[in-house]
Amino acid sequence: MKACVWKGPHNVRMEEVPEPILVKDTDAILKVRTAAICGTDLHAYHGQVPGFESGIVLGHEFMGIVEQVGSKVSAIHAGDRVIASDITACGSCWYCRQGLHWNCASRSLFGYGPAFGESLAGGQSEYVRIPYADTVLIPVPSDLSDDKVLFLGDILSTGFLCASNGGVKPGDVVAVIGSGPVGVLTQMSAFIQGAAKVFAIDRLPERLAVAERFGSVPINFEKNDPRAIIESATKGRGADVALEAVGGKEPLDSALRVVRPHGTVSIVGVHLEDNYPFSAIDGFVRELTMRFGVGDPMRLASQILPLIENEVIQPERIISHRITLNDVPEGYRLFNDRQAFKILVEVS
Ligand SMILES: [Zn+2]
Ligand SMILES: [Zn+2]
Repeated sequence: MKACVWKGPHNVRMEEVPEPILVKDTDAILKVRTAAICGTDLHAYHGQVPGFESGIVLGHEFMGIVEQVGSKVSAIHAGDRVIASDITACGSCWYCRQGLHWNCASRSLFGYGPAFGESLAGGQSEYVRIPYADTVLIPVPSDLSDDKVLFLGDILSTGFLCASNGGVKPGDVVAVIGSGPVGVLTQMSAFIQGAAKVFAIDRLPERLAVAERFGSVPINFEKNDPRAIIESATKGRGADVALEAVGGKEPLDSALRVVRPHGTVSIVGVHLEDNYPFSAIDGFVRELTMRFGVGDPMRLASQILPLIENEVIQPERIISHRITLNDVPEGYRLFNDRQAFKILVEVS
């Protein structure tokens, strides 16, 4: 079968690889219909992910039709149309029973090598082996198109969790750090929770234009000081909630800078720095709440699917490009060069 394979930094190629087979009786095999390229894939593309090796099949945003299930899979059947959660989990340990799948000892991330668990081939391919299929696969209603539900498997759950962990309330002024695909879905989620005003903070004009289209107030931090603008809109207080959707030191600095005293900073960006300089006295004096989270499609699907069905959220509106599986290497180039906002891959 065809799959997009990582060969080294900035070098991904379509290759023929063996079709996956059931390894455990809790596995399923998924025939992929639709996939996407995620910002998190770019960390791998650049070769920044620990343990990444040539030959890894990329991709963790994908959905399709179940081709085959193992003997212990009971909730999912061949022929079901499903989204794969980007992260996997066993479904039966203490954390899984609380719905905290990211902390499951069997957790992994598709197409990401051994960085976060077992190395699993990803979904920018024709077929994928899905571990713990009863837990990891999310059935979707037949009346919802792939475009509408695909992002539930990753970036929509991430953005939704960011706003939800931030405790955004009706009337709040919210600052969202980042206006990429996750940032914009975070902004949409903040509006769903009742935000009166959402400031979108980024430095790329084309991304800020997307944010503005969905109702956010754009701030280009290379041209204007986000803190000054947000303070002038809040009688000097700052944002009630700051949502960090980028990852890395500067975005987190920015979130802490714009949030008001007794505000909340909710963080879903991928953070790899292990010595972040946090001022405890500032946190104490301002009574700040900081909350980290990883979007968990398995836990959030029951909350998000009705919002999609009722068109309260229309995540498909962020799709800028549609390509076929053969064009995924070119898709990486476009996405990495910021020439594409969000790329959908029509696989089969
Ligand atoms: Zn992702
Ligand atoms: Zn578990």
